[in-house]
Amino acid sequence: MRFYSTNSPHTTVSTKQALFLSMPADKGLYMPTPLPFLGTDFFSTIAGQSLADIGFAISQALFGDEISKVDLEELTHRAFPFDTPVVDLEPGKTGVLELFHGPSLAFKDVGARYMAALMSYYSKHSDKEVNILVATSGDTGGAVAMGFHNIPGVRVSILYPGGRVSELQEKQLTTLGGNIQAFEVDGSFDDCQAIVKKAFVDSELNAHVSLSSANSINIFRLIPQGFYYVSAYGQVRQYGKQVVFSTPSGNFGNLSAGAMVQKMGLPIAHFVAATNLNHVVPTYLKTGNYTPKDSVATISNAMDVGSPSNFVRLAHLYGDDYDRFKTNVSGYFYDDDETRAGMKRIYDQYGYVACPHTAIGVLGLQAFLNQNQEDYMGVALATAHPSKFKPLVEEVLGLTVDVPERLAVLANRTKHSIQIPAQYEAFKESFLQTV
Ligand SMILES: *Cc1c(COP(=O)(O)O)cnc(C)c1O
Repeated sequence: MRFYSTNSPHTTVSTKQALFLSMPADKGLYMPTPLPFLGTDFFSTIAGQSLADIGFAISQALFGDEISKVDLEELTHRAFPFDTPVVDLEPGKTGVLELFHGPSLAFKDVGARYMAALMSYYSKHSDKEVNILVATSGDTGGAVAMGFHNIPGVRVSILYPGGRVSELQEKQLTTLGGNIQAFEVDGSFDDCQAIVKKAFVDSELNAHVSLSSANSINIFRLIPQGFYYVSAYGQVRQYGKQVVFSTPSGNFGNLSAGAMVQKMGLPIAHFVAATNLNHVVPTYLKTGNYTPKDSVATISNAMDVGSPSNFVRLAHLYGDDYDRFKTNVSGYFYDDDETRAGMKRIYDQYGYVACPHTAIGVLGLQAFLNQNQEDYMGVALATAHPSKFKPLVEEVLGLTVDVPERLAVLANRTKHSIQIPAQYEAFKESFLQTV
């Protein structure tokens, strides 16, 4: 498998280069080539398996001529010691795909852990230290921190918007120590993301340290996210209906992963792009105009992205053709009041406790199904466990949310972060002191 940049399709790099470089020098995004068409039969055969085995089968199809079968099997099983069950809301009509059964209780575990496993595979044969930079809107930080903790030869610096992540999200990324360092930025997620992007094109910095990104600009975050769309397909195909996925979106990595596996032959009829008030993509789908904006803070903080870095990739997957894009993807967005009302209704109707992001996914799915005659099976991606947003969920639903042990233990740990203003130079200075 080779990887080209969306900005220069004719030059390619190897798997290892795309993994460690993360972002091409021309500021495009890496895409796999050739993206194999595996076909419906392939997906039908593997769809009933565990997430680890689905991941293994697809990884073999993609990387089988570069990485041995034994190594691929080991790394996919190490990455995915959990599954992604579809829980019925209305059997045969709507369900939620629970992606939060990993260590950090959000879907980000899937991409982060696969990427970490692949990096540690390649790092075994190298003595160069890798510095991972990652900006987080809430959940990436925890998944990356846990996925990369204690991996030899890898140091991780996490940038997060101070005061804009939940307390438990913050604990996940500020309490591990060791090779994990958190930078608390006085600004928004977009500010964090802008600092990271600047670091990658800072030639002076790159001469000193070898930088990699664990954000979804790294294509190895997205490839494994395709695996759970396959798992979900396997769980709902018994209904014999066309499948629609609704993906609560911020940076649009998750939806891009779905579009990529669809292109590889997984039968997905349609996507719903569901967002909060950061709705540049739903607005694009409606008007054809794509206008990135400053992000606004909402209760679904992990989706507070005003300039989604995977939009380019997603548009590219639809041949940069607006009509194709909007034929396959419908956009919906909800403000905080609608999100709260949605959480409440989902609980009242189905007894299901959804985090605010998941609720937006369900709302988008229901809106789409209501507007279409076709008898689809709809699957909304449940992107985080409700306990990550415990105070909010308890206030909205008037109940007590149990916190799984692996999250509860963090409450008493001490936060360690380096506070910096939202300026690149400030970050660079304190980052260089840590390496
Ligand atoms: C990151 C995240 C999202 C958004 O996913 P993207 O791939 O950035 O679109 C949605 N919900 C939760 C809980 C998240 O952590």
